[in-house]
Amino acid sequence: MMGAGDAYAAAWPAALARPAAALSDVLAGFAHTETLSPGACAAGQALQLARLLAWARAQVPYYQDSSWAAEASDKIARGSGDFWDLWRGLPLLSKPTLRAEGARLNAARVPESECPLGLTRTSGSTGIPVEVSTTARTRLIWDALTIREHLWRGRDFASRLGAIRYLAEPARNPAGIMGANWGPPVAGYTRTGPASAIHVGLTAEHWLRWLANFNPHQLLTYPSVAEALLDAGDKPPALTEVRLFSEPVSAALEQRLTKEWGVTVAETYSANETGYIALRCVYGGLHVQSESVLVEILDDNGRPCAEGQSGRVVVTPLHNLATPLIRYDIGDYATVGGDCPCGRKLPVIREVLGRVRNLATAPDGGRFWPVELARIRKVQAVRQFQYVQTAQDKITLRLVLGQALTEDEREEIARLARVSLGHPFVIEIQSVASIERGPTGKFEEFLSLLEAKPWTRG
Ligand SMILES: [Zn+2]
Repeated sequence: MMGAGDAYAAAWPAALARPAAALSDVLAGFAHTETLSPGACAAGQALQLARLLAWARAQVPYYQDSSWAAEASDKIARGSGDFWDLWRGLPLLSKPTLRAEGARLNAARVPESECPLGLTRTSGSTGIPVEVSTTARTRLIWDALTIREHLWRGRDFASRLGAIRYLAEPARNPAGIMGANWGPPVAGYTRTGPASAIHVGLTAEHWLRWLANFNPHQLLTYPSVAEALLDAGDKPPALTEVRLFSEPVSAALEQRLTKEWGVTVAETYSANETGYIALRCVYGGLHVQSESVLVEILDDNGRPCAEGQSGRVVVTPLHNLATPLIRYDIGDYATVGGDCPCGRKLPVIREVLGRVRNLATAPDGGRFWPVELARIRKVQAVRQFQYVQTAQDKITLRLVLGQALTEDEREEIARLARVSLGHPFVIEIQSVASIERGPTGKFEEFLSLLEAKPWTRG
């Protein structure tokens, strides 16, 4: 435990232990840590996690509570017993708990080296925001990982970067907004080409006009937008790469982008509360950013999943002393991957499956991830769709239609939906003017309104 006057230094990785590390130092350090063997990386993480845990126990009311894993955390502090056995005995922190406990998860004080603090706010599906502090160090790591992703992808920094994404109110210009460069942190790191962004809430006609005008080399957007652009028609002539974020990336969409447009596909997995979780290299491996987060993928018994198995994603940011999130259950499910041919040793996530509210319940009670939901678009009139599960045997299909459906088309849509879902659901068709995106621009093709239960495979 540290006293009030002590300076704080991270225990691992070394690049972050130096006082006032510069971005280039951190990047150089990360170029080394990404090659560490899994054992060496885990040993480094264990040192840093022990330091984080000691800090949380000393400074954060929620973890000071006598009921919170006192025995395991004391053993970790004393270094007695196997670190990872003890770590797996610590409770998970759920999103509802984070929301409910609020300020009790903030440290009473933060070392000067971590200041100034910032705040990130996520409004979830419930509309109740989750607030987590950022620190000078977590923002430095965010910047370093942003640049690492560009370097991993071998991007041309002189190229044009376009983005169709959620923009705050003053930036919702129907023609998009222009930037002379890619903005911070990249513009501070190197010279870049121009950037432009357009608000995702505008219509597809706006996006297409903007794309034709700006003609980006790379496009940063949501998978649901990429799908809509593929359907709308021509590839922007200069486009070579589509960078996807915020929603799960399906193999079918990736295939379409590769085949129909001949572009490469990048993917970032991140959350406001934790920062970057995983980045995809050019070989397709979605690598966990182990210098910044510990990622555990756990089965229903809380045991680590083996390669090929799917489970809940539990994240511990290693360096956030202001709002330490220890074993944070982020609400996503993912599948554990294997070694990546790129040679980097950082663990691989094979696939991020989605959030628990995107999980379907079959009429017989089994649960499954719905796939190939776009099959209903074989019926020409279907412009946009969302499946909403309202009962164990019932799905409402919310459809934006180009023209009214005939009785035959209604039957065909219901049939195709049942084929996609693989179960004999009662399908109810509802014609709507538009389908709203979530508060951060995220689009959900499948939404379950059934009460969330723990997921069991099978
Ligand atoms: Zn790789």
